[in-house]
Amino acid sequence: MLNHNTGPTIAIIGAGLAGLSCATQLQAKGFKVQVFEKSRGPSGRMSTRNGEGWSADHGAQYFMARDPLFMDELNTWLTAGVAAKWHPHLKVYEDGQWRESASNDQRYVGIPSMNSPGKYLAKNLDVIYSQTIHSIAHKNGKWTLSSLENGKLEGQFDFLVLAIPSPQAFALTNLVDQSIEAKNQVDMLGCWTVMAVFNEKQSIPFDAAFINGEIISWISRNNSKPQREGQESWTIHANPQWSQEWIELDKDEASKQILECAKRLGLDCQHAAISIHRWRYASGSTVANPGFKVFEDIQLGLCGDWLHGGRVEGAWLSAYRLANAITAQTTL
Ligand code: FAD
Repeated sequence: MLNHNTGPTIAIIGAGLAGLSCATQLQAKGFKVQVFEKSRGPSGRMSTRNGEGWSADHGAQYFMARDPLFMDELNTWLTAGVAAKWHPHLKVYEDGQWRESASNDQRYVGIPSMNSPGKYLAKNLDVIYSQTIHSIAHKNGKWTLSSLENGKLEGQFDFLVLAIPSPQAFALTNLVDQSIEAKNQVDMLGCWTVMAVFNEKQSIPFDAAFINGEIISWISRNNSKPQREGQESWTIHANPQWSQEWIELDKDEASKQILECAKRLGLDCQHAAISIHRWRYASGSTVANPGFKVFEDIQLGLCGDWLHGGRVEGAWLSAYRLANAITAQTTL
């Protein structure tokens, strides 16, 4: 038990960056925090797939830091050695032509893998993994939870935070108040992701590329990121609109179409070992506001990227702001 606080009890569902950040802030303020996560490890969509002799970031590819608050957080990750700058040779494919990217943005990645910042945060938190929360109830001012794996869980909580993609959050809030979804709905799009692992280094004239006008929107050589070892692996993302339209496609067929497109773009994966992953909820709103949501009457909070611009930085900021709002309204 890492959390010796005796303040109000908070359950947080989701150990992605938002849930972990919210938990970290609230724990530091004296709340007794318990995080529940359906996967076997932390970090959510800031994720890495590991195979025999290879790894590939198959969710978030990099992140940027523009807000001073997130820059401070990033500095702690850099100091802890769980994030670093990434300087890819970046190209753009547009109107059937390749060009060098003109972007001067500073990009960062987790090291040695994209899930490292999440693992770093989770180390100091009570996170219970492999718990898919499928039911929540609010009675006499207390929250109780049930998971697919264990049924009704022990413990009652003063406050509940849902740090999960919007469709998953509203599936839960609908169990207590259907008007919450009606007022806050945000659509999220899926993403088909192919990982290609090669025995030999590929002579491709870039490390990563933004692709326009094709079913693929992004290609990246994982080994161009700092501290990536093992066989050369490439991550290929299909674009959000195509992915969403074909989200129910058979995995082999999705992989075939994405690899045909990659070949046309110069990455021939014929001799590569292929894995594919379907992200059902990859990207959400790119709108910056409202940042987070609090329903004071039932002591419920929502946070995550979909409430704050749809990216890694937004997920962190959303959680940070929700934690401040909860602290401001609660007497410790
Ligand atoms: P998540 O990371 O989704 O965390 C939610 C967590 O809740 C997950 O761990 C999930 O398993 C868990 N969960 C869900 N339901 C339940 C339940 N019922 N019970 C228990 N646990 C549950 N962002 C960038 O900044 N740059 C990029 O290059 C970039 N590329 C991306 C590419 C892809 C393919 C994807 C999928 C995302 C990308 N993103 C990128 C977006 C970025 O990954 C997210 O904005 C950020 O990681 C979201 O964090 P979060 O904590 O809000 O949500």
